[in-house]
Amino acid sequence: MQKTRVLIVGSGPAGLAAALYTARAQLKPVVIAGMQLGGQAAITHEIENYPGFPGGISGPELVERMKDQAEGFGAEFIYDVVESVDFTQGTPFTVKTAGETYLADSVLITIGADPRKLKVNGEIEGIGRGVSYCGTCDGFFFRGKEVVVVGGGDSAIEEGVFLTRFATKITVIHRRDTLRAGVQLQKRAFDNPKMNFIWDTAVEEVLFNEDGIVNSVRLKNLKTEEESIYPTQGIFVFIGHDPNSTFFKDQVALNDNGYIITDERYRTNVDGVFAAGEIQDEIWRQVATSVGQGTGASMSAIHWLDAHEESLQPLDDANLVSE
Ligand code: NAP
Repeated sequence: MQKTRVLIVGSGPAGLAAALYTARAQLKPVVIAGMQLGGQAAITHEIENYPGFPGGISGPELVERMKDQAEGFGAEFIYDVVESVDFTQGTPFTVKTAGETYLADSVLITIGADPRKLKVNGEIEGIGRGVSYCGTCDGFFFRGKEVVVVGGGDSAIEEGVFLTRFATKITVIHRRDTLRAGVQLQKRAFDNPKMNFIWDTAVEEVLFNEDGIVNSVRLKNLKTEEESIYPTQGIFVFIGHDPNSTFFKDQVALNDNGYIITDERYRTNVDGVFAAGEIQDEIWRQVATSVGQGTGASMSAIHWLDAHEESLQPLDDANLVSE
């Protein structure tokens, strides 16, 4: 069992910023990083809108730099996944991973959200064989090909327009006959000759050629119920995100969409537990906003620990002990 003043669950930009700030406050945070550092940012090929990098920077390099910076001030990164948490007894909070049990005086939840799945046959098998959830990561592989984009929100349309850099034809398949995306984005999409639209239609199945590579989708018109096969070499799915809040659902208050509810100081309804980044932010979803939120949450945690210093169980000199 390990005790720590600050436990950070998640190693995306919010968690990495929180690790830096709490480490610089001499709190020796422990970061449960998951099996891969960096969350969604780590699978983003090029990040061009994070301030300070005029030429852009690759997602993996950015998160590695953030980790190095936090480690330099004493943050400890553990490559393990959370299996359960217990916040019901108050502080210290219990967080169990596959390999260890942690007792933490404060917890910062920065575990993010995952792209929502269509949940149709062939989708999961097709990942890496034509199915993708990230145009910026995978668009390059579809140079000169025809692809479909599923969804009608800002992400679908923005990524669809981005994919026109690579693909020869992008067909947006949307379940309704109007887009949810903002008007300016819609205009860009409708004005782009490579963009096409199939309305009122759902993807029912992903189909493969004899080599196991995606070659088409089975579609269903939701108004006429008519089914058809639509040839395509790639399927980009942008139908929203699901927050990774399963372990927290009986522990902290969530909204109807499963996102953790926080106040403006990133406090959850449990005293001493904070949340930041895409686990509590349904709207902005940028590296820069997640970094800002992680920073705010960590400052709240630092203030909270200062205010509760006298009531917390002492740790040994290392501020982190194994028992
Ligand atoms: P979103 O706004 O929730 O849109 C999801 C889209 O997928 C909707 O068109 C929805 O259809 C469709 N959809 C949902 N579940 C589906 C399913 N099971 N099968 C088929 N289609 C399904 O999600 P988002 O586009 O990822 O955007 C999330 C947030 O980030 C939004 O607030 C957005 O404004 C913001 N964002 C902003 C920008 C920007 O400003 N540049 C870029 C990206 C994202 P319906 O329309 O019928 O519900």
